[in-house]
Amino acid sequence: MSTLDVTWARAWIKACAEDVANHRVALNELDRAIGDGDHGQNLDRGLSAVTATLAQTPTDTPGEVFRLVATGLMSAVGGAAGPLYGTAFLRAAKAAGTGGLDATGLAQVLAAAVQGIIDRGRAEPGDKTMVDAWLPAADAARTAAQEGADVTQVLNAAAAAAAQGARDTEPWVARKGRASYLGERARGHRDPGAQSSALMLAAAIPASLAGAEESADG
Ligand code: ADP
Ligand code: MG
Repeated sequence: MSTLDVTWARAWIKACAEDVANHRVALNELDRAIGDGDHGQNLDRGLSAVTATLAQTPTDTPGEVFRLVATGLMSAVGGAAGPLYGTAFLRAAKAAGTGGLDATGLAQVLAAAVQGIIDRGRAEPGDKTMVDAWLPAADAARTAAQEGADVTQVLNAAAAAAAQGARDTEPWVARKGRASYLGERARGHRDPGAQSSALMLAAAIPASLAGAEESADG
């Protein structure tokens, strides 16, 4: 595959909504350990609202889809994650421009998304937040694109790095968000936002999206 189009973008968001719904309880459990136990339901509510809007709204480009996701998540997700994910998708929309995404464009979209999260939440790498999934993902995407990978390979690299990034948060103390109130007691628990970010990035891989748009209506 050489470019990602609007069909991919819509299928990705649909897959995100399904995967987060399927992992809602597990994400709540992660958040119960070091937060207030609502991360899965927050994100599930937001993505359900987004998919409902998406189903009724024609879109021509990935950028239009991302903008719709941004607006939906900002208004429907309570808590810290809503504005952070919302900003990520808003910046992604701007970076995506008005066409499809090639490997370099995709890497730029991921870089813009993580910069949005950092600008909004002021977390640094190692603070045990969603940044610890998104930043390695964006870095891996850039490296892969520079090495001539196609979009599917870039997405695979990003998803693998995000999954590793989420696992890496387990032994850390948190320095941002609710988990930071726990001090040493946050050690041994994976950050819920990093885990949901890894899930969402894994859902973007085209091979995992086959039929996702069709099953949306069927
Ligand atoms: P809340 O903490 O308000 O209940 P959620 O449970 O939905 O919100 O989301 C918690 C997640 O948000 C954390 O696991 C972390 O990944 C992310 N998070 C919190 N604060 C920040 C921040 N300042 N920067 C980046 N991510 C953050
Ligand atoms: Mg929470």
